[in-house]
Amino acid sequence: MKVLVLNSGSSSIKYQLFDTDKQSALARGIAERIGLRGAMLSQTDEKGERATLAGEIIDHQQAIQYIIALLIDPDRGVIKDIQEVDAIGHRVVHGGEKFSKSAAVNDEILNELRACVDLAPLHNPHNIKGIEACRSLLPGKPNVAVFDTAFHLTMPKSAYIYGIPYILYKRHGVRRYGFHGTSHYYVSRRARDLMEVDIEDVNMITCHLGNGSSITAIQGGKSIDTSMGFTPTEGLIMGTRSGDVDTAAMLHVMRREDLDSREATTLLNKHSGLVGISGISSDMRELESEAADGNTRALLAIDVMTYRLKKYIAAYTGALGKVDALIFTGGIGENSSLVREKALVGLDNLGFKLDTAANEKGEPERLISAADSPSKIYTIPTNEELVIAFDTERVVNGEL
Ligand code: ADP
Repeated sequence: MKVLVLNSGSSSIKYQLFDTDKQSALARGIAERIGLRGAMLSQTDEKGERATLAGEIIDHQQAIQYIIALLIDPDRGVIKDIQEVDAIGHRVVHGGEKFSKSAAVNDEILNELRACVDLAPLHNPHNIKGIEACRSLLPGKPNVAVFDTAFHLTMPKSAYIYGIPYILYKRHGVRRYGFHGTSHYYVSRRARDLMEVDIEDVNMITCHLGNGSSITAIQGGKSIDTSMGFTPTEGLIMGTRSGDVDTAAMLHVMRREDLDSREATTLLNKHSGLVGISGISSDMRELESEAADGNTRALLAIDVMTYRLKKYIAAYTGALGKVDALIFTGGIGENSSLVREKALVGLDNLGFKLDTAANEKGEPERLISAADSPSKIYTIPTNEELVIAFDTERVVNGEL
């Protein structure tokens, strides 16, 4: 089955055209700066050939029109006719408590997605725009919503209830939801394959460390706790997001700096984390290079980030009792040997022993734990698009 996988953000749409039979992407691309000056669409095919389209892209609908045009372009495209696409799989950030699995989009589901907008005002409206555009541009083609939150709906109440009045959960749905579910799901299943075990028999901790970061405790294949909460702001220190912070401290900042809730939201999500602490960059590569040159604020940002990560790994080891595998993924998790090493310093006694040479370099997907490490440690490149494509196929075939 050919599935167009779309990840619609505020000003960009990332996409892949997936062939589920071949388990590979025929094309991948991104429409950037939608609604802004200098909009551009670029696409790479299987052979790595790059095609671009520059021009005004006023909204998501037009971006998808351009994407379709480039996919079927006689010279630079990868398919002859858009009718070859069997279905469209959409990443949707928040599915609330309603969606514990992926869902075929009809009018009723679309209304339910709209009802979730209040829970994720920064993300869901753009995801919905992508779905609406596909429904109008490709009538009759099935659209499937795949949720970042779905994998975490197995968390017990003890993990998702906040220490605030319970009535606020009942009234406004204020609880911990968790995100990055497709990534945590994918790498846990990949690790199971590498370990040649049944998922029900093992416990894992998965660390997705990219621009956004989260860590998940997985018991017998099910998420039992994760570091992101009601929003993706909670938990680990991220590129531009704060992670855990004393809410009373933020209320104090709002009073002293005269910030309204919108400004405070921007401060926590865009100006905090690695960029906020370092004052230099949200990009880990840049911080590693600055720190190596002696920049103390860059080093501090890395230290705060890795110390927070270490605390979460230790906490989730406690939550799980025993951990069979610890997995690192995402741009930082896959590539930064420094972050992995710093996060695991002193955790030998909890069962995590790195093989220093394997941690330093090797294949992207590899075992990096020492032979006598009680818990296996892996780096595994994530593939959220693959999960979305296969989920879409299963929903269309009535198997999910
Ligand atoms: P996103 O969450 O936007 O998908 P990625 O998963 O691509 O982001 O992660 C981006 C982060 O990964 C950036 O901080 C980048 O610096 C970091 N990164 C990528 N390659 C390396 C590397 N070789 N060493 C350290 N950090 C890296």
